[in-house]
Amino acid sequence: MLKPMTYLAVNQSADALDALAKDDRAQLLAGGTNLIDEMKLGLQNPQQLVDINALPLDRIEALPGGGVRIGATVRNSNLAWDATVRKSYPVLSQAILSGASPQLRNMATTAGNILQKTRCTYYRDTNYACNKRTPGSGCAAIDGYNRGHAILGTSSQCIATHPSDMCVALIALDAVVKTTGPHGERSISFANFHVPYGDDPARENVLLPGEMITSVDLPAMPWATRSVYVKVRDRASFDFALASAAVVLDIQGNTIRQARVALGGVATKPWRSIDAERALVGKAATEQTFAAAGLAAVKEAKPRKFNAFKVELARRTLAVALSSAAAITDRIDAYQVSPELYDGTDTPRKI
Ligand code: SF4
Repeated sequence: MLKPMTYLAVNQSADALDALAKDDRAQLLAGGTNLIDEMKLGLQNPQQLVDINALPLDRIEALPGGGVRIGATVRNSNLAWDATVRKSYPVLSQAILSGASPQLRNMATTAGNILQKTRCTYYRDTNYACNKRTPGSGCAAIDGYNRGHAILGTSSQCIATHPSDMCVALIALDAVVKTTGPHGERSISFANFHVPYGDDPARENVLLPGEMITSVDLPAMPWATRSVYVKVRDRASFDFALASAAVVLDIQGNTIRQARVALGGVATKPWRSIDAERALVGKAATEQTFAAAGLAAVKEAKPRKFNAFKVELARRTLAVALSSAAAITDRIDAYQVSPELYDGTDTPRKI
């Protein structure tokens, strides 16, 4: 049941920061697709909601020298169908369109997606022990039904999977999170934004108290036109990933010059696999190379009783993504590469 709270709508970032500084139980509200859900479940109880929808953070802009700045409140649908994103960073468009439902994508924002909470069923049910919800209480998932849980980046305290598809693409694209807060502005590489759970699974990222995300910047990466997101899930209409892979390949002739590899659905944070990238760079773009990269990506996996299948699933998902990316020969259109991702309900825009 929702608890009483106050509501404040702001139209300047300074006012949002001021509200956060005055009340450590204030929380920012944009799309609300995850926060309101959690409030209904009693997982979060903010004293004040600070509505930032009027802030000028809803734009997608070209950066000087190349690259793109994505405002914190850009809706997921608008980002997925943005002409530049579809043309220059197709993996991002595909990842977003594979996540949630059209209704949720129309509301959910860039920053909200990055900050969303795990959907671990034990975390969301207050009848169970959960170190993330109540530090020190235990983890019902470790010896429970952990079919959807992580095999990479786990700790003895928590094995919850990071739920985002978009974040898997962002880490593969070397994105940078821009923030503002009491100590000024910061630029945080996406690879360092989410933290391994370690002994404190309640801490999920490096955002400081009173700090807010203002944008996510994508660097210029001309070779990202050869990029693909592949997602495997129980239900095609909408579901979280059992395993997913975001890959970006730079291939000259038949040799892989550069590679970015990230996995979703199998790790406690968006998971960049440097081992898989090492298995690719300098090698011929062949099925054998892709299979070797798949093996390298899961060599540190720590499966549990019900999620051991994810080791093989992740390996194969990555190999398929790499093979699909290598097969791209011309200008990419996310809509053409993965037509099954278009469910007819978002509004596609022409490139
Ligand atoms: Fe909580 Fe993490 Fe265990 Fe899930 S896996 S019950 S989120 S501690």
